[in-house]
Amino acid sequence: MSSSNNSNLVVILGTGGTIAGRAAQASDNVGYKAAELGVQQLLDAIPALAGRPLEAEQLAQLDSKDMDFATWQKLARRVAEHLARPEVAGLVITHGTDTLEETAFFLQRVLAPAKPVVLTAAMRPATALQTDGPQNLLDAVAVAVHPGARGVLTVFAGAIHSAEQVRKVHSYKVEAFASSDGALLGLVEEGVLRLLGAWPAAGDGLGLARIEARAATAWPRVQILLNHVGADGALVRALLAQGVDGLVVAGTGNGTLSHALEAALREARSAGVKVLRSTRCDAGPVMESAGALPSAGALSPVKARVQLLLDLLA
Ligand code: ASP
Repeated sequence: MSSSNNSNLVVILGTGGTIAGRAAQASDNVGYKAAELGVQQLLDAIPALAGRPLEAEQLAQLDSKDMDFATWQKLARRVAEHLARPEVAGLVITHGTDTLEETAFFLQRVLAPAKPVVLTAAMRPATALQTDGPQNLLDAVAVAVHPGARGVLTVFAGAIHSAEQVRKVHSYKVEAFASSDGALLGLVEEGVLRLLGAWPAAGDGLGLARIEARAATAWPRVQILLNHVGADGALVRALLAQGVDGLVVAGTGNGTLSHALEAALREARSAGVKVLRSTRCDAGPVMESAGALPSAGALSPVKARVQLLLDLLA
């Protein structure tokens, strides 16, 4: 398989995760250590990739629960550098499932690439009886060389998701990701793509300068809070006392907030803290309404936090 402009090299950037995890027993799907195997070892375990034009680079080796801003900066820069090479058709990033949707959304907002950047992962370690990593990686490469594919994508369990829509929806099952509101981009079936939606728009990325102007240690502090029965303003006031730049509140339903939580958030806004209102529902937007705190639209709380971070970095 090759892309229309004769670029057919795929660069695989390894960042760790369960896909690179190892357990002592093949029957153990949860008692493993993530981020143990190198990305080249993951590729070597897939005979179908032998002889394909691939380049492997170990960018990080971590459990994605510990993903950090410094790694994001490094990753965005390397992705941009590889995408600029004419011989590169696309990139694959191996990642942990836990924060994959945050990294995907971050890269899409910063780079909005005209070539495909495909994040993939696994729910089971590489040592499992039925590991899902090799098939996911093979499918990700198929998408990375597909003519016309573009944008930051997630390929997982035979499905293609956009960075905007993808969410981890299950803590254990191999089918762990879904696209919100049924907006699935496509399927990979025996290496063949069946497109169900449109590739993401390209060219409207915020650019590397936005995220490189400040050291990762000096990035804004943005925290996520939740509305729930009996929610009060104590956490907001504690954060204000400590120093915070932005707050995302995962409201109930259409972004609704208890009186006490809303009052505290308005105090925070008056003190110069940026506030965005999202929803703790699994899908759906928060509709703007006159006089209400600003809405995060249809972004999930974690993606609204990425958006707010990027806004504050401007
Ligand atoms: N904790 C792991 C990670 O996110 C889970 C996984 O990859 O499935 O790196």
